Amino acid sequence: MGEKAGRRRPGPLAGLLVAVVVAAGCMGGGLDQGEPEQPRPRQSGQPASPGSDTNRADGTTSVAEFKQDFSDAVGIAERYWTDQFRSSGEQFRPIRRVVPYTRAGEVSCGGEGLPRNNAVYCSAGDFIAYDVNWSVAAFRQVGDAFLFYLLGHEYAHGVQVRLGIRYNFTIQKELQADCMAGAYIGDNVRSGTLTLADGDLDEFREGLLAVGDDPDQPWFAEGSHGTAEQRTDSFFRGYEKSLDACGLS
Ligand SMILES: [Zn+2]
Repeated sequence: MGEKAGRRRPGPLAGLLVAVVVAAGCMGGGLDQGEPEQPRPRQSGQPASPGSDTNRADGTTSVAEFKQDFSDAVGIAERYWTDQFRSSGEQFRPIRRVVPYTRAGEVSCGGEGLPRNNAVYCSAGDFIAYDVNWSVAAFRQVGDAFLFYLLGHEYAHGVQVRLGIRYNFTIQKELQADCMAGAYIGDNVRSGTLTLADGDLDEFREGLLAVGDDPDQPWFAEGSHGTAEQRTDSFFRGYEKSLDACGLS
């Protein structure tokens, strides 16, 4: 996506974002109710959004720009999943709404106010909500791949609900959503809808490495998303092999 000078940001940035992730807390509980979702940033790379060539290298992306880009990513996800469903002879119903928020409790899911520093797919209302200031801060630091990954992962949860997939453990659902986010990005790169720049894949990799669960966390725990290795594997399986790799059927 256009210029990317200064896009690689090592140590300090990773530390900051990991801190953000920890602060957000990985609830993961409430499988069907809201499921406060941890976007788990420290994602980088820049799959470009279509047609635009905004220079984000100076880190001055505005909230308005972010919302626009997010909305572009949503549009791409809607088209992507509509096509996937159609090729299986099904009709896809897009996720109803995408709601940016700025204050804790401003948006509720299943009767519970959403906390700041979070993003979530709320199955109770069939919407995605995200703390826009928090998302913009992460976006400024890691580039717009974060946005596509975040949206791709949350959107995938809506698709999982539509497909009626059941899971024994949170981690299965989360790793599958990572795989589906990878397929969403990879397939759109293959079709030319998104363009990756040099180094973007490495940055995805670095990003995913930083967002794995704490090694001490049991895989079966409520809220487990997977170790860094598992999340990286899932994302890239989807990215490289498309949805066949995600175990949707
Ligand atoms: Zn998730």
